[in-house]
Amino acid sequence: MIHSLATLLCCPTCGKHGVTVFPKEEKTVDYDTGPVNEIREGTIVCGSCRNKFMIKDFVPRMMHGHVSDRSALLDGQYWGRMYKRLFDKHIMNYVDIREQFTPFYRFGVSAKFSWDERLRLKETLPLNHLWLFQNDEHARCLQNLSTLAKGKRVLDIGCGSGWLSLEARRKGFDVVGTDPSIEALTLAKEYSMQKRCRIEYVQADFDNIPFVDTVFDALIAFHSLHHAPNLEKAVQECLRVLKPEGLMQIYEPRNRTRILKLIRFLLSSMMSGVIRMRHENSLPMTSFSRSRNEEISVAQINEIPRYLNVISEERYFHFLNDIPLLLYLASNNRRLLGQSSIKIDRFYACLKRLTPDLCEFVHYISIA
Ligand SMILES: [Zn+2]
Repeated sequence: MIHSLATLLCCPTCGKHGVTVFPKEEKTVDYDTGPVNEIREGTIVCGSCRNKFMIKDFVPRMMHGHVSDRSALLDGQYWGRMYKRLFDKHIMNYVDIREQFTPFYRFGVSAKFSWDERLRLKETLPLNHLWLFQNDEHARCLQNLSTLAKGKRVLDIGCGSGWLSLEARRKGFDVVGTDPSIEALTLAKEYSMQKRCRIEYVQADFDNIPFVDTVFDALIAFHSLHHAPNLEKAVQECLRVLKPEGLMQIYEPRNRTRILKLIRFLLSSMMSGVIRMRHENSLPMTSFSRSRNEEISVAQINEIPRYLNVISEERYFHFLNDIPLLLYLASNNRRLLGQSSIKIDRFYACLKRLTPDLCEFVHYISIA
């Protein structure tokens, strides 16, 4: 962390402003904007309750230590380990979406799409609803930030290994990412320094965001609040740290019905057999058990408009998204990718008109 971050921090235990930083080890990092002094190791002490928080590997650990529900922490540990393991296997698109995209690693298929190839394919397809590439969702969130001036302060809450933070920084914003997972944050910080992008990463709970009131111009919760054990408190915390008129975006799964999950699973499993015939099975992921705390508040995501001034709500289906890419990987036929994508996109549009309540994902935009 840099020294000036301390002016934004508050104590997650007592909620008071006024912390003092005691650096133990510092390093000058050469960012694209110039050299900056980063604190690698040290301690942060609250001026009111005297609680201490560690800074390790450049990341301040601002968890308040009395987590009533450890669900988010355990969930974070799961995802942090997962991202680290994928990164170590050179599946890096969860750290940097501009890296090669490996959509079917979970089936042990290592086929990759490059960033350029994805952009090229996307440009040739007139799609509105289909999430064909991972970066489509990011693009929707980043596009809405374009009304903000460069240098504005953006909080990426539940940032994981930093994929969206990195893109927001590349757009010229002053970015802070928080997450309960120290593993994910350490990976994100290391990678951002390598890429010479200055981003502050802070370990934090969802329901005790360790920042003083009204310091952020915009906030993004991207696939994140469904991990928050107390969703209402988390949303209130988001509002507290946002400036008046600040822009908040929430992009979350909202309704993963069993039938949609089953259809997706069956289709993907069937297709993965086809893929394996053409691609080597080099990435066995079977030793990963699912996080038991995943989606703890997914059923309450629909209630978010009760707490916020929502100005826009867009819903999306995802459950057939694997098909066009799987067909493409199996056949290497780009026309087949295009045709199937357009058909599924049209089908989604119909389904959305008929049964909007069945949509699996929602993107809320609100003004504080
Ligand atoms: Zn305190």
